[in-house]
Amino acid sequence: APAPPPAQHLFSDPAEIEALRGNLLAWYDKCKRDLPWRTLAATEPDADRRAYAVWVSEIMLQQTQVATVIDYYNRWMQKWPTLQALAQASLEEVNELWAGLGYYSRGKRLQEAARKVVSELAGRMPRTAEDLQKLLPGVGRYTAGAIASISYGQATGVVDGNVIRVLCRLRCIGADSSSPAVIDRLWDMANALVDRSRPGDFNQALMELGATVCVPKAPLCGECPVKQHCRARHRKLFGKPAPVPDVEDCGVGGCPLCPPATEPWDSSLGVTNFPRKAAKKQPRAARTATCVLERRGCHGAPEYLIVQRPSSGLLAGLWEFPSLPLAQGLQEEKQREVLADHLRAWTGWPVAVGGLRLIGEVIHIFSHIHQTYVVYSLPLDGDVTLDPALSPSRWVTEEEFHASAVSTAMKKV
Ligand code: SF4
Repeated sequence: APAPPPAQHLFSDPAEIEALRGNLLAWYDKCKRDLPWRTLAATEPDADRRAYAVWVSEIMLQQTQVATVIDYYNRWMQKWPTLQALAQASLEEVNELWAGLGYYSRGKRLQEAARKVVSELAGRMPRTAEDLQKLLPGVGRYTAGAIASISYGQATGVVDGNVIRVLCRLRCIGADSSSPAVIDRLWDMANALVDRSRPGDFNQALMELGATVCVPKAPLCGECPVKQHCRARHRKLFGKPAPVPDVEDCGVGGCPLCPPATEPWDSSLGVTNFPRKAAKKQPRAARTATCVLERRGCHGAPEYLIVQRPSSGLLAGLWEFPSLPLAQGLQEEKQREVLADHLRAWTGWPVAVGGLRLIGEVIHIFSHIHQTYVVYSLPLDGDVTLDPALSPSRWVTEEEFHASAVSTAMKKV
């Protein structure tokens, strides 16, 4: 078994834990933001319906800001107010509503999981964090803990980016916060701290603290309801670690939770010394040629051709202008040629290289790809017959384009 962590980094005094819970919950009751999923979870008497509402919000909030999520969440709940309604939706409808929210597999998996609950679990949600994680696709440890504590009152903790920041500061944890060793410790800590009678509120309070007070760059320590428990703040104010009764300092060498000896406490950073993360991998650069094919529709309004992406991989099942990945370093002349070849094979039209008009470049950053779209346009007069063996395609007006399941990157294009 691994050695227990040094006491500097633990909550071991029951009186302190009690005080921290009380202070945090009192602050949350007074200061929490009004958010639609919170209102629903607080007023909905049916636990499974509460769980559905929390689940949808948590999946949308992964990787996306609260302000962006609110509108999507409200539209989603209006369209599919229950798990049963969602189970009957088509993937196309889900993608259309999700369009612009990013990380599209989230919506797809949410709908798959809803179908599973309806067809395999008799419409009843699993009620513990362990079962939620085990039985529902796309539900990880964090989401399972959030649903179980907020909707079913299970006394189980949660660890997300906000909680990592708050706990690392409260206990001066400066080792790489994305390492499994640190993450395991933080889960243990979250499970030990969670309030037994109000677990859902406690977890939301800890996350809310990270989102509104203990923020990454300039935390508002003066307004913090748990400042008297914060060892990072103590260190900032007094220039040395908080004394822990009967325990020696662990700062010198060998502590698995202290900052590495090569990057010690930097007094100019104060509490933002914590948390620390290993350097992020740079996103890989990719270039794609994309062509906006335009024709006059039957009422004279312009129409554009969109095609559907494959059902797996990046932006699975979404629609886009015909596109072609480009090799790095290809000259403009060559780009144009490969794109014309591609369009010729695909439309059966004698697409002339000179007919392609270069419009410009659009850059879009996906989490792991720095993508440049080289955008061309090609007006067509007359109809094209597309090879039906290729990807599904359709002509759309500008309005229809915006209502389709297209990514933010394509809207930029
Ligand atoms: Fe975060 Fe400051 Fe509160 Fe500590 S005192 S938990 S650093 S806001």
